[in-house]
Amino acid sequence: MTTNEQTRQINDRLNIPRQPVPKQAPADRVTNFDETYLLMDMGAALVEASRCIDCPSAPCMDACPVHNDIPAALKRLEDGDLLGAAAKFRETSTLPEMCGRLCPQESLCEGACVVGFAIRPDGGLHPPVAIGRLESFITDNERRTIGRFPVRLSVPATGRRVAIVGSGPAGLTVAEELQARGHSCTVFDMWPEPGGVLRYGIPNFKMSKQILDEKLQSLRDQGITFVTNTKVGTDVTLDALHDEQGFDVIFIGTGAGVGNPLRAPGEELGNVYPATDFLVRGNLRPDELPEHLREKPYIGTDVVVVGGGDTSMDCVRTAIRLGAQQVTCVYRRTEAEMLGRAEERKHAMEEGVTFAYLTTPVRFIGDPDGNVQSVELVKMELGEPDASGRRRPIQVEGSEYTVPASAVVIAVGYGADAEFAEHMPVETDRWGLVKVNDRTGQTNVPYIFAGGDVVNGADLVVTAIADGKRAATWIHQHLSNMGPAKKG
Ligand SMILES: Cc1cc2nc3c(=O)[nH]c(=O)nc-3n(C[C@H](O)[C@H](O)[C@H](O)COP(=O)(O)OP(=O)(O)OC[C@H]3O[C@@H](n4cnc5c(N)ncnc54)[C@H](O)[C@@H]3O)c2cc1C
Ligand code: SF4
Repeated sequence: MTTNEQTRQINDRLNIPRQPVPKQAPADRVTNFDETYLLMDMGAALVEASRCIDCPSAPCMDACPVHNDIPAALKRLEDGDLLGAAAKFRETSTLPEMCGRLCPQESLCEGACVVGFAIRPDGGLHPPVAIGRLESFITDNERRTIGRFPVRLSVPATGRRVAIVGSGPAGLTVAEELQARGHSCTVFDMWPEPGGVLRYGIPNFKMSKQILDEKLQSLRDQGITFVTNTKVGTDVTLDALHDEQGFDVIFIGTGAGVGNPLRAPGEELGNVYPATDFLVRGNLRPDELPEHLREKPYIGTDVVVVGGGDTSMDCVRTAIRLGAQQVTCVYRRTEAEMLGRAEERKHAMEEGVTFAYLTTPVRFIGDPDGNVQSVELVKMELGEPDASGRRRPIQVEGSEYTVPASAVVIAVGYGADAEFAEHMPVETDRWGLVKVNDRTGQTNVPYIFAGGDVVNGADLVVTAIADGKRAATWIHQHLSNMGPAKKG
């Protein structure tokens, strides 16, 4: 093909408009907990795939933490080889249907897509290819076609046993990868059901739990064992798993699931909830929860959610679905400094959530029964940048005011479990995050590896998967170096 022909072909592709992905209308979706996005139409998916210009450098692949071969998968889709396209995504990712729904694509693959940097005739930029939505379309289609998740084939058993602590995306990835390499994997979790934040955090309106349940079934079919309602460190120690129960290697994937407190007076009042308690009680069936969390959260009329990240958007949108008349998100900086996805804020605004920027709570005020009834707020202004590079919020003297609140949700970030860290034989930093060799995921104790949020701090599903993949490679190496297992 001549250079002119190539340029014409690229221009033809650039001129194809980005295909819309259907969504439930805001008025409908606030009445249910079903996914906001609806199934993409096959025709639209084929057209969207043809917007990829198959650029040789493929920066989208570098920007994807698991390095999905996006151009190859989209080419297969464009050619009508849908199962081949799904297989391409599964070569590098254990949970592509989830990442397609949950990744902040604008700062990962789609943020690096060359199409998104091409200038339109009117001077604006072309929108990037909808990589995430195509990834979930392709892999959803595969599951519908074959009637289940594809089960990974395992090589003959090696006799080696691996204990995985934590069943979030990091732990599930390690289990899937190592079981396929012939090692017998047992996943421990303290919640009643496996899944980590995929179940006990992320609401159904972002990702249906049915996908998680089907994935877990495929892992059970692969031979992986799940032991739930078991808190490692309390019910069984890491030492006991290794020394008494005979696990050759332990992977710690316990996440960063401890909600940060606001440390404002009145936080202990009734109907003031930490984000995870609110989300799991609001979104899950009672049988998926421990007894003390089975009751739905009290909502009343006015819900105030404190914090400006993605978790706060999950909370405000849950509160709306639980019937609150007025939901206010209180954030101490401006929208420009918010860390969460713009798309999630847009969804929240469409659903009727109000945003109070440059505002922070000073105290929560209770009624005679000890339940919150109002919040005293204060206005803020932005000063010089702080260590995070964002401008520091400073209180405006005398700007206090009070708003009614029937329930309050505190969503101001997450940290690792400091108590668990204290009782572990591995080195941690002052935030309780496990220190590992960056290349291998191995800790200072040779038979213990770690990855996901317990190493990185609160991060993403896809980075936890990437960590799990890397750790599995090195755990396999470690087990192979141990030689054949003794027959027992
Ligand atoms: C509300 C919420 C919404 C989010 N939304 C998104 C999103 O849209 N997109 C995105 O990419 N990321 C999102 N994230 C972040 C993402 O979910 C996490 O980065 C990811 O789940 C981390 O995976 P992990 O495997 O490291 O840990 P987790 O998913 O946290 O799993 C850790 C598991 O370890 C278990 N555990 C902890 N301690 C013990 C113990 N001592 N014994 C036994 N089990 C233990 C926990 O019960 C948990 O099941 C969200 C996070 C939250 C909280
Ligand atoms: S895993 Fe996430 S970053 Fe990678 S291609 Fe899929 S949506 Fe993009």
